Amino acid sequence: MVVRALFPTLVYEARLPAGRGRSLRERLLREALQLRADDGAGRIWSRDNYPGGYTSYGSLCRMQSISPTFAQLEHLLDAHARRFARQLHFDLRGRKLAMTDCWVNVMPRGVAHGLHLHPQSVISGTYYVQVPEGSSAIKFEDPRLDRFMAAPPRLGRGHAWVTMPAAAGRLLMFESWLRHEVPAQRARGLRVSVSFNYGWF
Ligand code: FE
Repeated sequence: MVVRALFPTLVYEARLPAGRGRSLRERLLREALQLRADDGAGRIWSRDNYPGGYTSYGSLCRMQSISPTFAQLEHLLDAHARRFARQLHFDLRGRKLAMTDCWVNVMPRGVAHGLHLHPQSVISGTYYVQVPEGSSAIKFEDPRLDRFMAAPPRLGRGHAWVTMPAAAGRLLMFESWLRHEVPAQRARGLRVSVSFNYGWF
């Protein structure tokens, strides 16, 4: 008897970078907090779309083309995106994956990021810069959820949601259609991450 897993949903996880990660993270953190202080347009956008928190998604969403620190991050992420694309069996002959957007997210206690996906992108992900102990995790929704209909509830890993803890230095990548959310930040202190999108060209 054989039971096969067809059409699996892949989530890529890595630590970034293995060696000098600390200094890159420190610089990303410093710049993220500076952005929160300086980016008035972003604060207004966040007030309406990210209540209680700050994101540069609506204002400075191409940080890789503005900041050398984020350009360095892009360079590192490119290699991981290519590796993930191979795992996904993408046929990219004559084409390439390229980062289109890269933005920061600062979540104080109580801030949540509702269920969403990343339209017009291929691979998306997050790099965790600062994660206070007890911070909320990212939740991925089973993409088949709307087809379960009469299925009974499932145990453990078979559940419709999979939660992956955030940790400073952890990189997660997933296909952009995979819906996810971050429940309200539970820890005191700022949960700071950098999110990004890749397209193919
Ligand atoms: Fe997201």
